[in-house]
Amino acid sequence: MKKTVRDFALEGKKVIVRCDFNVPIVDGNITDDSKIKASLDTIRYIIDQKGKVILLSHLGRIKDEIDKPHNTLRPVAEKLSVLLNQAVAFIPVTKGPQVESAITNLSNGDIILIENTRYEDINQNKESNNDYELGKYWASLGDIFINDAFGTLHRAHASNVGIASNLVSGIGFLVEKELNVMTPIINNPKRPLIVILGGKKVSDKIEVIEHLVTIADQIIIGGAMCYTFLKAQGYQVGLSLVEDNQLGFCEEILKQYQQKIILPIDINVALEYAPNAKGRIVSINNINYNEMGLDIGPQTINLYKNVLRPAKTVIWNGPMGVFEFNSFNIGTKSLCDFLSKQKITVLIGGGDSVAFVKKFGYQDKFTHISTGGGATLELLSGKYLPGITIIDSK
Ligand code: AMP
Repeated sequence: MKKTVRDFALEGKKVIVRCDFNVPIVDGNITDDSKIKASLDTIRYIIDQKGKVILLSHLGRIKDEIDKPHNTLRPVAEKLSVLLNQAVAFIPVTKGPQVESAITNLSNGDIILIENTRYEDINQNKESNNDYELGKYWASLGDIFINDAFGTLHRAHASNVGIASNLVSGIGFLVEKELNVMTPIINNPKRPLIVILGGKKVSDKIEVIEHLVTIADQIIIGGAMCYTFLKAQGYQVGLSLVEDNQLGFCEEILKQYQQKIILPIDINVALEYAPNAKGRIVSINNINYNEMGLDIGPQTINLYKNVLRPAKTVIWNGPMGVFEFNSFNIGTKSLCDFLSKQKITVLIGGGDSVAFVKKFGYQDKFTHISTGGGATLELLSGKYLPGITIIDSK
């Protein structure tokens, strides 16, 4: 068991908290503050325990000096002040005397937010390459390290693995909740376990497919990735998205797990990839050379519901079609609706899966919707997360 923020005496201690404040910012305004809200429980707890809070996060990608102004964490400090109803001092640099004196001057219960850790990427990618000296320096600023950035647990960066290598460490409430809910579902699911996989690319999810196919009782495949599987079976899929270099992989998986894998039987196709494109429902052996599949068809939706009906656990990653276009969101929406009415464990996450659940208003309808894109995919692949492995055990 990993240590958590509850396992430390925090009073008077300088607590470095790695958060995931990688929020969308347009013209200086935060357009979705859910990641900031998700960090509040841990921050409030440390304040209540009279700790001194030093917040670190990355934001966007920094390759050049010109990337810096668009990716400053200053708006996040302002938002945090409002949400916590308390001043959050923003330190506009990532290291040096300004950071150090701000920390020296902290009183119990104070909070500071240090500038975007990826500003250090201008300097030979020191943050993203987990530069040892940088991790050691950041660790030297505090007494305890708490990692609450679920979304970056699959990466070994200086601001997570680097600090944890040099300081006593634990996880925050957000990471604890994600792991506590997901680990038993993935490792010891109530059966039948049915997996739904969709989204764009087979290549993004090879390891997820390879792992989940071994633990699932059935796997339902939709989204763009189903066309590579269908083509591997010999169907003509027209202009649908296909990764030709993954045909061999799909063929192999289909051969090995023939009984487990369920593919569409009909498709909603269009002549163009556009929001107002006109759909046509066709059986999978009638896709014309100039058509592309943008959603699963009504018979497939029924088939998938029937397959899902006996499930006790469902793990779902990726939409069934182009859910951003109203005419091609029916497959994804129908399965959301169907699963929301079953009294079973439903875990949704990985990649951009949160987006369709939120768009259709089902965010409170399932057992768990994981916030971590890449980190969740790694968990679903049965892998260890470096940001967790390095944390002290109890
Ligand atoms: P992912 O991040 O891998 O879960 O992929 C999500 C994306 O896949 C969404 O933006 C969908 O629009 C896209 N997608 C799903 N089905 C299709 C399809 N049939 N053709 C093209 N894109 C699709």
